Amino acid sequence: MNHICVLGSLNRDTSHLLTRLPMVGETVHGIGTSSSAGGKGCNQAVSAARLGARVSFIGKVGEDKGGEQLLKVLREENIDTSHIQVDPDVPTGEATILIQEDGKNAIIVTAGANMSIRDEDIEQAYAAIDQADIVIAQFEIPIPAVTKAFAYAKQQGKVTILNPAPAKEIPDALLQATDILVPNETEMQVITGAELNGDDAIRTAAGQLLGHGIRYVIVTLGEQGALICHADGAEHVPAQLVSAVDTTAAGDSFIGALSSRLDLSRWHDPQHLREVVSFANSFSALVVQRKGAIASIPHSHELES
Ligand code: ATP
Repeated sequence: MNHICVLGSLNRDTSHLLTRLPMVGETVHGIGTSSSAGGKGCNQAVSAARLGARVSFIGKVGEDKGGEQLLKVLREENIDTSHIQVDPDVPTGEATILIQEDGKNAIIVTAGANMSIRDEDIEQAYAAIDQADIVIAQFEIPIPAVTKAFAYAKQQGKVTILNPAPAKEIPDALLQATDILVPNETEMQVITGAELNGDDAIRTAAGQLLGHGIRYVIVTLGEQGALICHADGAEHVPAQLVSAVDTTAAGDSFIGALSSRLDLSRWHDPQHLREVVSFANSFSALVVQRKGAIASIPHSHELES
């Protein structure tokens, strides 16, 4: 099994169920609340760990109750938290999710400690990268920190997987240090500025990125599955046909599954990538049939049944 280093965000998610969302100046009484660990980094790390990968995390939380709870959740998932900094000067990242009874929602994210990860913090965590086979990151933390970590990871011969979410422009230095880019369709549109209607348009847009040292662009397409683009062509890997109830963490579980199953002696072979993406589609298909973020992520023993 791979050893994966996840560089990313950690949030306390608090969900409030309401009959309807409040208007400006209005008070609405809640029906119930629940809280859980969240953030793209957290969801991806938990997905990989539940599939049996060794996972270490580079990130930052505040010196508060939320930070303590997040560290506890990650340790319970057997994730190495020794490279997560606890910063007394910033609060732990928080997401407040307001959910109407009909399922529609409004979300407020306060990045807190996640956005205070600096280059020096990455240097202090180089040991986590040294130990890993694969390094994963997203964009809920500062892009310079991701660039620094990926440049170091490439120098050390690691495989790097970038999930550019939420979508932002990717600096050239980061593109050059990325092996596998995994955006969803909207992110791909923002990154390339191209109008993407169908596989051919996505493949053409991916061509711009593949020139930069990226070996694969894997665009996730929700219920359509994923399109793998590489220098010699593209291949559509269909999703499982299921009835989705909540797509939260669909993309994150896809990344966790992809990284945990990538065979590093074969990852240059597009046929191997096809098998791994097909597995990731199946794993995420289970996630979308359950409610919640990490609550919806299966353990490996559930895959057999
Ligand atoms: P999210 O932001 O909701 O976590 P995303 O937009 O990053 O997701 P998607 O492309 O929507 O990512 O989904 C990721 C993967 O999850 C897809 O490639 C597919 O394998 C699976 N998936 C998503 N939605 C469905 C669905 N309705 N039915 C089956 N599989 C799905």
